[in-house]
Amino acid sequence: MSAAPSITDAVLADRYDLVVVGAGACGLVAALAASDAGCSVVVLEKLDSPGGNTTLSTGSVPGAGTRFQREAGIEDSPARMVEDLLRTSGPHDAEHLVELMAETSAEVIEWLVDDHDIGLHLITDYKHVGHSVARLHAPSDRNGANLTADLVRAASRAHVPIVTGTPVTSLTTADGRVTGVVAETADGVRTITAGAVLLASNGFGADRSLLREFIPAMADAPYHGAAGSTGEAIGWAQQLGATLANATAYQAYAAVATDEGDILSWTTVERGAVIVGPDGRRLGDESVGYSDFAGVIAAQASESYAVMDERIHDYVARHEPRFVKIIDLGRVQRAADIEELAALIGCEVSALEATLGTAAAAAGGMAADEFGRTDFGTGGALEAPYYVCRTHPAMFHTQGGVSVDRHARVLDGSGEPIPGLHAGGGVAAGISGRAGAGGYASGNGLSTAVGLGYAAGRHVGAANRAD
Ligand SMILES: Cc1cc2nc3c(=O)[nH]c(=O)nc-3n(C[C@H](O)[C@H](O)[C@H](O)COP(=O)(O)OP(=O)(O)OC[C@H]3O[C@@H](n4cnc5c(N)ncnc54)[C@H](O)[C@@H]3O)c2cc1C
Repeated sequence: MSAAPSITDAVLADRYDLVVVGAGACGLVAALAASDAGCSVVVLEKLDSPGGNTTLSTGSVPGAGTRFQREAGIEDSPARMVEDLLRTSGPHDAEHLVELMAETSAEVIEWLVDDHDIGLHLITDYKHVGHSVARLHAPSDRNGANLTADLVRAASRAHVPIVTGTPVTSLTTADGRVTGVVAETADGVRTITAGAVLLASNGFGADRSLLREFIPAMADAPYHGAAGSTGEAIGWAQQLGATLANATAYQAYAAVATDEGDILSWTTVERGAVIVGPDGRRLGDESVGYSDFAGVIAAQASESYAVMDERIHDYVARHEPRFVKIIDLGRVQRAADIEELAALIGCEVSALEATLGTAAAAAGGMAADEFGRTDFGTGGALEAPYYVCRTHPAMFHTQGGVSVDRHARVLDGSGEPIPGLHAGGGVAAGISGRAGAGGYASGNGLSTAVGLGYAAGRHVGAANRAD
């Protein structure tokens, strides 16, 4: 991973064309887009470093019809992306955003790479959950910290100040228009006036009381998202009349490997690993995806075990440093045979033999899988020696939020934009269905972060030029 650039202490002006609340992917992309259009922009970040959930993510952003796909011989289109995402999510409250994300995704990725030197590379070695073609573009080591670092560097080159340790605490309004923010700066509480404000401060995954209200099933689950996702900006927008959409949707993760939140890469499962409970029996169809499968596990057990073989283990270790990290932490154990594997899990050998035998028959195409899984990756039947990782399901981030239009303008109950107020990323309605974790396709989180950030930044830029 390349070193994160330092954030210099910026001297805050009294007014900006765009004030961005939150320095994750949404806020930083919006800042770049608005700055490209000649706007003065500041990004205010409440924590001491930028990045939020973006830094914790794999940095994988979907793009349909990019030149990187064409170079790799992959045929894709916005229509295909829309079809894929709606197949995964089912009908929901923000389908216009699915269309917008798909239509602009290639343009945004190419702009980030070409104009701002953001390191995004097409992932071609497997298709992600919910996508019928290779479509996700990520830092080469799939580490979101590098996406953040690249965006921060680009903001620095564009002379956009990112002011950390500066929580925004409320919005200011006049005559029904949002006119700025109140922030706790190093010099005390300040009001900063803005031509427009973008709420890019993510959702409410870190706030147990909001989870209890909207997503009670996950209110007590371990939370492994960023500390800053406490949802206050959604409340400010609601006070101004904003409505919520897809508010009970979320993304969870089925296989967290440490109490600190290090994940077992889902590539292991996509290449053929199976997940068993403490009794050595599988818990369901793992191929529903890491988000949906978290709920499957949580309903049956508080911990589970991912079982893979050496081919899968070595493949993922070659490609993913975060997998190497959990190996180095001693979280992945080797078992020469089923007896050793059962001892590591603490289950009956006979139960594990039955589980792996049935899964092998399904993976080899000799029998239908007991849970309906049809995709066992490229590995076929698992063979000794085995590797096992004890994991637990956890809440990652919320996917619902305030209703916005195609310019990321926040909408009131009549569907009219609230003047001066934009929202994107986790503050805005997501594209992962109306409820639960099942509608989440890989990349949906960064899709609305990057896509709505771009839409907001460009809209503010265009409005500014017209004034
Ligand atoms: C472990 C993990 C893995 C993931 N992997 C992926 C993936 O590969 N692909 C994908 O699409 N999605 C992924 N996601 C989801 C994705 O990370 C988020 O959906 C996305 O990063 C949201 O971007 P954002 O800019 O809206 O929010 P963030 O990146 O969280 O940025 C919001 C920022 O706002 C700041 N903030 C909050 N409140 C205030 C305030 N009052 N004043 C000032 N600043 C404030 C926060 O501190 C934070 O820095 C993952 C999430 C997790 C937790």
